[in-house]
Amino acid sequence: MAEDKKKLTTGFGKPVEDDQNSMTAGWPGPVLMQDVHLVDKLAHFDRERIPERVVHAKGAGAYGYFEVTADVTKYTKAKFLSEVGKRTDLFVRFSTVGGEKGSADAERDPRGFAVKFYTEEGNYDMTGNNTPVFFIRDPLKFPDFIHTQKRNPATNLKDADMFWDFLSLTPESIHQVTILFSDSGTPRTFRNMNGYSSHTFKWYNEKGEHFWVQYHFKTEQGIQNLTREEADVMKSKDPDHATRDLYEAIERGEHPSWRLEMQIMTPEQAESYRFDPFDITKVWPHADFPPITVGRMVLNRNPENYFAEVEQSAFSPGNLVPGIAASPDKMLQARLFSYHDTHLHRLGPNYHLLPVNSTKGCPMNSYQRDGFMRFDSNGGGGPNYYPNSFGGPEPEPKAAEPAFEVSGKAMRQPYNHPNDDFVQAGDLYRKVMTDANRENLRGNIVSHLGGAQKRIQLRQTAIFYKADPDYGRRVAEGLRLDVKEVERLSAMSAEERAKATATD
Ligand code: NDP
Repeated sequence: MAEDKKKLTTGFGKPVEDDQNSMTAGWPGPVLMQDVHLVDKLAHFDRERIPERVVHAKGAGAYGYFEVTADVTKYTKAKFLSEVGKRTDLFVRFSTVGGEKGSADAERDPRGFAVKFYTEEGNYDMTGNNTPVFFIRDPLKFPDFIHTQKRNPATNLKDADMFWDFLSLTPESIHQVTILFSDSGTPRTFRNMNGYSSHTFKWYNEKGEHFWVQYHFKTEQGIQNLTREEADVMKSKDPDHATRDLYEAIERGEHPSWRLEMQIMTPEQAESYRFDPFDITKVWPHADFPPITVGRMVLNRNPENYFAEVEQSAFSPGNLVPGIAASPDKMLQARLFSYHDTHLHRLGPNYHLLPVNSTKGCPMNSYQRDGFMRFDSNGGGGPNYYPNSFGGPEPEPKAAEPAFEVSGKAMRQPYNHPNDDFVQAGDLYRKVMTDANRENLRGNIVSHLGGAQKRIQLRQTAIFYKADPDYGRRVAEGLRLDVKEVERLSAMSAEERAKATATD
């Protein structure tokens, strides 16, 4: 067997007699068409690339486990969370968001934090970020938003005008922009950052009672960030520094870990809460909803093959298990569709069968058949339709999410809750940040926003001013803008401000 492994063969197993010399007519050539090995080698090479993820293209992954440390059965009936001490295997992929597959790990960007739990009730994916909020709360804006974070269609360059034009016309982004431009926008490594579900999810128990929840994976390595200057050096010194750090730490036996803390809100609390608990631009303040520790995640094994296990890994917030369900968060609702859709495009209709994506804790028994690259037994000789009287798999009614009410008029409509978009960004600036954090925030913003047109600088700085006058003033001074003009713009409605800054 070991001998056989050493023998070079074609993809179809024929021994290859020579892998250095093409078959030619005489030594000068031409090359013969009948050199099937050469033709196949080139043809496969020509097809090595698969579509890059539109977002989260650059990433690193590792295997590990999750261990339950508190009894949460009164909140959820998910079996993998049913017992203190219970362990579930998992796979995690960390990533940057906007950069291409070869971009630098130290770019200022949110970081993806996706966890696939291989549970006995199917795979459960928690596709989070290292920030608890997001830039927008309506998915109709998502493709536009991402376009502005990528490259100018004419120059193919990153473009500060596009970047800040969109954000300054979308004031709901201010909270996430403030986090992104703090040093949290450049985590030192993937090991030194937290992961958040960002979305609110629903947990429901055996009695059918439900709770709204948010996930916080808190790093046990401690939060550490790079300053802008350190990140700039790292980008050129080692563009893959975070990928390297994760791999090498695990190889050394330093297994990174995160504590899972949950914020839990009852339906009654949600009814009367002072803002919409499903608005992804907001956090639930810890004072109102103190996080409770429910478990611990440890990463202890590197993938053996990057492409097979990390590039082909595919997460979707739609991969839920009984006891865990979606919330009405509009961004989440769109992601339930879009992640699966991306993987169908990227990997094909049978991507769920790839080893990293396939179920490990339970069998997969569906009536789906055929499609490109169906490489398992394809259901064998069993029935391929339901209902049938030939012993095919049966639905399990107990797996149903409890029924819930929906109401309201169906139409295109904005969020309609009384809380403003600026209060939490202001709280972060005033109450959570130290003065050193605020100074770095100002410097990070000025160095980036300084590349945009002046009218866009003014419009965005007015939004910082609305979050906190000192915040707006510091940025204005850094950009040498007229503080009075910034103050005047900050008092306007978003529509008036857009009109007042439409041209120079
Ligand atoms: P708390 O003081 O109870 O919590 C503050 C949180 O902010 C901590 O979890 C801390 O996480 C995190 N934090 C500390 N420094 C920064 C920073 N420079 N940038 C981003 N996050 C930071 O306050 P509240 O719960 O009332 O929230 C106040 C603000 O804190 C929010 O508006 C939000 O911007 C931010 N925040 C809140 C979170 C929440 O879920 N409530 C989560 C993360 C941020 P750690 O110590 O682990 O770094």
